[in-house]
Amino acid sequence: MTLAVKNSIIMESLKPKIAIIGAGNVGSTFAFSLIISGLAREIVLIDKNELLAKGESMDLNHGLSFAHPTKIYDAGFEGCKDADIVVITAGAKQKPGQSRIDLLQKNVTLFRKIIPAITTYTKNAILLVVTNPVDILTYVTLKISGFPPNRVIGSGTVLDTARLKYMLSEYYKVDPGNIHAYIIGEHGDTELPVWSNATIGGMNIEKYCSGYVRPQIAKNELSGIFEKVKNAAYQIIEAKGATNYSIALTLVKITRSIIRNENSILPVSTLITDYYGINDICLSIPSRVNMNGVDQYLKLDLSEQEQKLFKHSADTLKKIIKTIDI
Ligand code: NAD
Repeated sequence: MTLAVKNSIIMESLKPKIAIIGAGNVGSTFAFSLIISGLAREIVLIDKNELLAKGESMDLNHGLSFAHPTKIYDAGFEGCKDADIVVITAGAKQKPGQSRIDLLQKNVTLFRKIIPAITTYTKNAILLVVTNPVDILTYVTLKISGFPPNRVIGSGTVLDTARLKYMLSEYYKVDPGNIHAYIIGEHGDTELPVWSNATIGGMNIEKYCSGYVRPQIAKNELSGIFEKVKNAAYQIIEAKGATNYSIALTLVKITRSIIRNENSILPVSTLITDYYGINDICLSIPSRVNMNGVDQYLKLDLSEQEQKLFKHSADTLKKIIKTIDI
């Protein structure tokens, strides 16, 4: 049964089961954030390093009297049975200086193994892919699983968009809640900001910047901020070896929107069909996320320059996908 079909059961318990594949930096920090959020009834950690999954689940359990009642345990892939959401964080991560695309071969090989292992035990869950390169692996997951596109989601540029809102809010001294601005395309080097649709307090962002800040340099300031967003992960990985807190909170936001049927508009990675001539590729675009997964994505009107960049992002990923055997 899908989440939609199981709606009445979820409404009764309001707390579903989440399986996390990969109990490393991202998986374990997500589990920690989940027990604080109280969103899950059951969390299962699955890792090829069984000792790590055991240790993490023990440690999380020992903090439960200060968090929300949750059943936490480690298991093999059979732990995916009855999961409402399977969050996939397993795989190689970037080393300092490596791009996300550099992880391609290793992680595609891994996904050829783990996706069938997951779908042996569940045909009904929503699959949320986090492992990089996330857009390509979301596409690979879609193809291998045979699940409908609404139930295969990549975390995409939700984190990049959060970084953008944070940096804009710091720079312009505005509450991030009053900023609507999205990063779309690849979660990686070809991503782009959609300034043409971005607003601060309902006003177009470029107008806001030139009217209220320093007119001549407003555009340069925006592109400077975007460059910092794009390079943030490289900087954090250089400093501490991995990113974990912000991605964990990103995953809480996405899972909350699914579990609580919140209909949040989030730039997750989803299958694109017939958008500016782009087809059959997973990329991030603002999408309505609810108990069906990605219910709908928004075909934003992009400026000519943004269309060009978005197509470039899609073409770059398409070329890479052609090189792999799914
Ligand atoms: P990590 O090395 O700390 O953890 C990865 C875990 O995967 C390890 O514990 C490993 O044992 C496990 N694993 C490997 N093969 C497995 C298998 N066959 N079955 C089960 N588990 C297996 O890495 P991390 O820092 O947690 O990052 C994980 C992934 O998430 C990386 O690809 C990283 O690039 C990606 N990531 C994505 C985003 C995003 O925004 N999409 C953000 C941060 C990290």
